[in-house]
Amino acid sequence: MKLDILAIGAHPDDVEMSCGGTIAKEIAKGKKVGILDLTRGELGTRGSAEIRDQEGAAAAAILGVSVRHNLALADGFFQNDAESQLKVIHFLRKYKPEIVLCNATDDRHIDHPKGSDLASNACFLSGLKKDRDQG
Ligand SMILES: [Zn+2]
Repeated sequence: MKLDILAIGAHPDDVEMSCGGTIAKEIAKGKKVGILDLTRGELGTRGSAEIRDQEGAAAAAILGVSVRHNLALADGFFQNDAESQLKVIHFLRKYKPEIVLCNATDDRHIDHPKGSDLASNACFLSGLKKDRDQG
């Protein structure tokens, strides 16, 4: 399946809170939109990862997104490294989105700019013809 838009967020509620309205508007116009959560938000002060899973699934159904995946990287401790980039690249190559939305590049929460950098780096690398092992 090809997506028009893939929204990538560090935590399960980042996409809804930052661009939920945009996603709803684009889906209403007939666009196919997916969400990729980098972590399950297990370090969040309120709630739990299980509650965030349920809320994420409910939000995806309400918005009408075509797919939603969670990479389950370590909340607070994931890195913008080859291992994480390859996981994001997998979804970029699978869904070939025309537009990728991601976290803010500068923010108080350390995961947000880190997630933005990870998404940006993965977008660049996903367009290369050769894979890492073919170098
Ligand atoms: Zn967040």
